[in-house]
Amino acid sequence: MANLFSGLEEFGLNNLSNINIYDEQEKEEGNKDNKNSKVAFSEEDIIFDKTYNCPVCDSEFKSKMVKTGRVKLKSLDTDLRPQYLQADPLKYDAVLCPHCGYAALNRFFKYVTETQAELIKTNITAKFKSPADTGSIYSYDDAIARHKMALVNSIVKKAKVSERAYTCLKTAWVIRGKYESLPADTPNYKKVIQKLIKEEMEFINNAYEGFSEAFMKESFPMCGMDENTITLLVAELARKIGKIDESSRWISKILISRDASERIKEKARDIKELIKEEKN
Ligand SMILES: [Zn+2]
Repeated sequence: MANLFSGLEEFGLNNLSNINIYDEQEKEEGNKDNKNSKVAFSEEDIIFDKTYNCPVCDSEFKSKMVKTGRVKLKSLDTDLRPQYLQADPLKYDAVLCPHCGYAALNRFFKYVTETQAELIKTNITAKFKSPADTGSIYSYDDAIARHKMALVNSIVKKAKVSERAYTCLKTAWVIRGKYESLPADTPNYKKVIQKLIKEEMEFINNAYEGFSEAFMKESFPMCGMDENTITLLVAELARKIGKIDESSRWISKILISRDASERIKEKARDIKELIKEEKN
């Protein structure tokens, strides 16, 4: 079979020895796509410079953003962090004004009241130094720093608890992205990973506290998520930080809920399974 197409090289048709005549078309196309994306993909291809108007200092600036539809979803982590095939677009979610230091996650960026703008000017702009230009893509360190700036800003501007919690969660996700893709030849590899996991857990802890508080005080949808999704998220965050009984309570809430979708219930059962495994 392997040699079925040998001899076609002279027609310029190399690399045919692996193809199977009866592969379903879909499968074949999928393989082609994968090959192409491996060869031709660069992170620069999926990002562009988006122009923003800063709601705090009124200047115009550019920030890198992911083009829609350019990355394919690979999987969801148990805490709903999406992983994509080609790159990690989560790195680009924090927008930072290089003039005044105001930063926020993209979805919150433009919503600033006058009082909040004053708070930011007094507490952030006064001390802010514009970062050096970071080149054509954001490294994980750039991304983590930008997310932390967003978090500091959310605290200074006294943002809703849910916004702060969500910013913590997203920061944890970017840190996770960093250690998952850390090159194996990094000096002190194990230590670096341990330190990053510890840092991630601190953000997870804060995200848990924020979301469970917001759950009682705020209305839904929250950060684009409905009540069942937030319940699932809080359950998983609780499990991650070792609050097992609490996690089980949130899980039960979903499993007895009449309006939770089968997909959400499925995920709740997955978390219940993880809890069982941990107890054993
Ligand atoms: Zn600004």
